[in-house]
Parts: sequence; C-alpha cells; structure tokens
Amino acid sequence: MLRTHSVLLMVRAPQHRPPSPLSLPAHPGCCLSGWLTAAAVAHALRAEGNFVFLFVGSERAILFDTGPIPYEPFKEAIAELVPNAASLDLIVAHTHSHGDHIKGDPLWEAEAAGERDSPFRSVVIVGHSPQEVADFYSLDFAPDGSCEDATTTFHLGGGRELQLFWIRGHEDSHIAVYDEVTDVLVTGDVLYPGRLYVRDTPQFAATCQRMAAFVQHLPPARRDALRVLGCHIEMSSDGGEYETGTVYQPDEAKYEMTAQDVLDLASATSGAGSGGQTSGLAEGFDPNRRFMVVPPRL
Ligand SMILES: [Zn+2]
Ligand SMILES: [Zn+2]
Repeated sequence: MLRTHSVLLMVRAPQHRPPSPLSLPAHPGCCLSGWLTAAAVAHALRAEGNFVFLFVGSERAILFDTGPIPYEPFKEAIAELVPNAASLDLIVAHTHSHGDHIKGDPLWEAEAAGERDSPFRSVVIVGHSPQEVADFYSLDFAPDGSCEDATTTFHLGGGRELQLFWIRGHEDSHIAVYDEVTDVLVTGDVLYPGRLYVRDTPQFAATCQRMAAFVQHLPPARRDALRVLGCHIEMSSDGGEYETGTVYQPDEAKYEMTAQDVLDLASATSGAGSGGQTSGLAEGFDPNRRFMVVPPRL
C-alpha cells in the first residue's frame, strides 16, 4: 500500500539508462517503490526523457508534468501506483509550460470534464499561464515581476504540505516545489545535470539567488538531506555532455543534486543581466561540471 508520505519519480524511456530506485538514498517516509517500469513510460520515447513527479497526501495527489506526448499506459500506471485513487482528487500540474512538460495533458481532459469515469475521485488540470498557475495555488503574481518572492503552501491532506515558489527566467510559469517530508526540491528545468537554458537573464539570476536563499534558510539537517531534482539529465558520469536530441544515454551523470549545487548555480549567475540580457552570463560548465549555463540567444 502506498504510504501517504511518498514521492514517486517516474523515469524515462528504455533507451535512457533507467536510474535504479536505489540510486536515490533511502529516506524515511519516502516510498520509491513506485518507479514506473520502462514499458509504462514509453510515453517518454523522446530525447527529452523527462522526469515527472507525483506527491500523494490523504486527500489529494498532485502530478507535476505530463510528458512530451499523450500516452495512455502512462496514465494507467499513475492510477495503478495510487491504489486509493478513488478517495483522492488528482491535480494535474506542471513545473512549467514548455511542450515536453505539458503535452500529456489531453490524457486527463475527458476525466477532468466529467466525460469519462476516472479512477480518481476527481481530476483537475492546472492551466499553463503564470496567471492561471498563480490563481490555482493562490500564489501572488504580477506581470511586472514585483511578486517574484511570493511563496505559497499547497495542502495534500493529512498534514502533508508542499511549498511552492516562482523560479522564472527559464519559462514564465515555472515554479519550484519543496516537500519537507521527503527532502525533495523539484527544480524543473532551472537546475539539473545538463544545459540550463536561460530565457530572461535578470529574472533567471534572481531565481537562482532565491533558490539559494531558500536552501540556506532550511534547518541544517534538512539542508544536508536535501535532494534537488530536475526534469532532465544531459550529462554523462565523466562530466561530458550528451548533445541535444540524444536518445541513448548509457552512462548518465548522477541524477540528484544537492544544496551545494543550488549555491554554485547562484554563484555562477550572480549579478548576471544587470547590463542587459547577455551581460555577466558566460556559457559553460560550472567548475564541478554538474551543469552548464546557456545564455539566451538574442
Ligand atoms: Zn523547459
Ligand atoms: Zn524540459
């Protein structure tokens, strides 16, 4: 039986090396037995190889990201992973609104509209625009960027809470998700072992400072335990780079990142954009070869 205190990480297509569930450290209160089988994630037969995330509470479950294509077995596998689905509302949400993170949404549209029976008590799909994201979570937002420091709490029931905050600069609707129970910070496409594409340099630099402040304010035990999880892997274990479009990555870099990686990204981007979109942002790997910052192409 799935515990309410769980985070499930669904991995990618078979041609990517599927990280073993044991590649993430064991964690009290975290059930990792729900990794989907390769067959169930054939939806991710795309070079992007997205990771998606499912958090389950006693009242509702929330799925962050639906992958690059609609693929029915993926949806079925989610329901199978949540045996008490009939007593839960499913929120179909997104880290952000790039195509490889939202294109599976149609899988749930008929159920969300009440046109088809659902294994879940109800299904709600969160909209893609920053305003729709803000409205759904009651997260303050202003188009002029004056609410970038806003945070909010999303309640999953049973005392389970997620903290959400804006991490824009890669894409306008991007949020971070922190789960204290499993010591997971989902950083989407803002931080992962690979190419970090910056679209708005000042905003991205501010996001990186905000993420650094967040981890620095965690209690030391929580900060030490923190697992920073992004949506892709584009690097090999020897610090090399898998080119865009690679669909076979047999020797991927370690997936999970740490609080130190968050601080390193803040250092790498500190002050960037103060003199224009490309100012202060050099393309290249960080000194530890854990990520590569890619400035906007103007
Ligand atoms: Zn993206
Ligand atoms: Zn992506």
